Amino acid sequence: RARAEGGGQCLFFSAEMNQRTLERIGMEAALRLAVAGDELQLLYQPLADLQTGDLCSLEALVRWQHPQQGLLAADRFIPVAEAAGLTEAIGQWVLRRACRDLRAWRDAGQRAIPVAINISPRQFHDRGLVDAVAAALAGHGLGAGALTLEITEAALLRDAAAGSACLERLRALGVGLTLDDFGTGSSSLSNLKRFPFDALKIDRSFIRDVATDAGDAALSKTIISMAHNLGIKVVAEGVETEAQCDFLRRNMCDQIQGYLFAAPLPREQLDALLAEPRRLPPHLLRIQKQKR
Ligand code: C2E
Ligand code: MG
Ligand code: MG
Ligand code: MG
Repeated sequence: RARAEGGGQCLFFSAEMNQRTLERIGMEAALRLAVAGDELQLLYQPLADLQTGDLCSLEALVRWQHPQQGLLAADRFIPVAEAAGLTEAIGQWVLRRACRDLRAWRDAGQRAIPVAINISPRQFHDRGLVDAVAAALAGHGLGAGALTLEITEAALLRDAAAGSACLERLRALGVGLTLDDFGTGSSSLSNLKRFPFDALKIDRSFIRDVATDAGDAALSKTIISMAHNLGIKVVAEGVETEAQCDFLRRNMCDQIQGYLFAAPLPREQLDALLAEPRRLPPHLLRIQKQKR
């Protein structure tokens, strides 16, 4: 009886896997067309500075306007793209679109808010990355300070020696460098010292229960003080509640990103937001150190 059940399970799994494989292949083909066509979109999520309460940076997040399935978030298709070797093409599109939007904001006389873009592991190890970034900036008349690249630990650790060389070249170019999803990879602590990051983002999974879970609270505190000792700024991802923000401001976190401050927004909505920037209320700001 146990065997029959086991066999049944096997059948069930393989049928499901076939379905998944078919879905993936369909998605791959559709994604190829999407990149070539006009189905990708870039949203921008504002980050707030906990000292001033001001909008201080934007993260570009890619979306796919799927003809049947509607607007898909990045986690729905970036893994498919990565497996299909499509992330370079998507990455190029994101880089150019972000620079184009930055140029348009500058031309409209908006405040110069830097934009961060996510670099996939494959894109990071593509030899052409540094030249592509330099060309996109120059092509739009932008200084390197306009862009920050977000790189995950997983991407770095794929080949630490090559990764380190690439980071040094990006550093020399002058773009900002952020270690994304911090805490989810391995050997996190040594990476901070070894690689030239300006900032790290504490992963959303640690922020979710930071106000209620002693373990997550201790971990976040440790990350913040360790990063500060190394001269690295700290951003908390996925901040949704005032309780989370209160914990972070009391523990000297530098910036927050999440629905509490703002969701990822289309360009048109940002134009208004940049003209009259949203601010965090005073009770959510870091306590200023007394000047002696
Ligand atoms: P990430 O870089 O950690 O981006 C943050 C993700 O958290 C985004 O999901 C954002 O929409 C979501 N988020 C922001 N605030 C909140 C919040 O308060 N609560 C919750 N629950 N979620 C929040 P998204 O856009 O689906 O992106 C997922 C991941 O896909 C990103 O994680 C990033 O690693 C990757 N990704 C996004 N855009 C790109 C891109 O242009 N290129 C590449 N290579 N990867 C991208
Ligand atoms: Mg990111
Ligand atoms: Mg992140
Ligand atoms: Mg994350």
